Amino acid sequence: MRLNAEETARAARSLTEGIGRLASRPVRIMEVCGTHTVAIFRNGIRQLLPESVELVSGPGCPVCVTPNEYLDTAIAYSSCPDIIITTFGDMLKVPGSSSTLLARKAQGAAIRVVYSPLESLDIARENPDKKVIFLAVGFETTAPTAAATILQAEQLGIDNFFVLSAHKLVPPALRAILTAEDINVDGFLLPGHTTAISGLAPYRFLAEEYRVPAVVTGFEALDILQGIYLLLEQIAAGKAALENQYSRVVKPEGNPAAVAILDKIYQPAAAAWRGFGVIDGSGLELTLAYKRFSAQDMLPLSGVITREPAGCRCGEVLRGRIVPAECPQFGLNCTPEKPVGACMVSVEGACAAWYKYGQGR
Ligand code: SF4
Repeated sequence: MRLNAEETARAARSLTEGIGRLASRPVRIMEVCGTHTVAIFRNGIRQLLPESVELVSGPGCPVCVTPNEYLDTAIAYSSCPDIIITTFGDMLKVPGSSSTLLARKAQGAAIRVVYSPLESLDIARENPDKKVIFLAVGFETTAPTAAATILQAEQLGIDNFFVLSAHKLVPPALRAILTAEDINVDGFLLPGHTTAISGLAPYRFLAEEYRVPAVVTGFEALDILQGIYLLLEQIAAGKAALENQYSRVVKPEGNPAAVAILDKIYQPAAAAWRGFGVIDGSGLELTLAYKRFSAQDMLPLSGVITREPAGCRCGEVLRGRIVPAECPQFGLNCTPEKPVGACMVSVEGACAAWYKYGQGR
């Protein structure tokens, strides 16, 4: 049921008052997902919360958590004359160690922006003498589409299409946060879109093993306020449970058809995250039956020299250790026009959101 403006304002007021009543001690809540970070700023939610409720961003921006090593590898592939790179547009401006995909494109490299990985198959068919490599970046939400593209390539007999997989799974990163000694999180606002695919089961460990409350939350202002309210309710009662505020979209079992495609094409593997290092079981690699679609297997690259941008604290932002304004480069050397790190590039990046909507508090 959609509320009109007056009903929405009344519901927001009621939730805000409830949050105020429940916020009797300082709490630190992590909004895991970059879409939540942006929605929180866009709706002025920080300004509605009491001082005692601190919101910190988490590792849920796929472009941000993709380490430079991956970008540098993609840039190295773009130097091969018989390779066409296909990518979502948000990867173009992310600074690699010494260049960007955008700069390589301007220099004449064959880099095509696509809105769906399926477009890569058309490009592959139109260019039979080239090898097309799709930069497969994203979480549980986007990985099924990449998997479906591989399946379709197989069905159509397209043998010049490959993926460079940097797909990642959110739950292992949350476990890494909870086992880190230098990070303190009292509750998680969980992303509504990744859970719509995976279901709730992969997130049960948060409450069951670590006694940390978690609420799967939608992306409207009222969803987020209600998610925060439900977290504070648990914290005030000394409870830890996994709740689903976004039940109008997220089913407990997730999307079994999407999970089945994922399981057919990919299997969990260790993966490197910016700010975290390598996390066991946090990435997706092609299963043996589909390994022939792996760019690294088609053309292994070695000797790619990689380094993270000097002075960039994006990794600490992604782990919830600091907020963007605590980075000395924020808004000075590093702006969306001249980004130093990935968190200032992506529209879902915490640094970009803090910059765009003012520094918050
Ligand atoms: Fe990195 Fe820029 Fe964010 Fe600082 S403000 S952490 S330099 S992206």
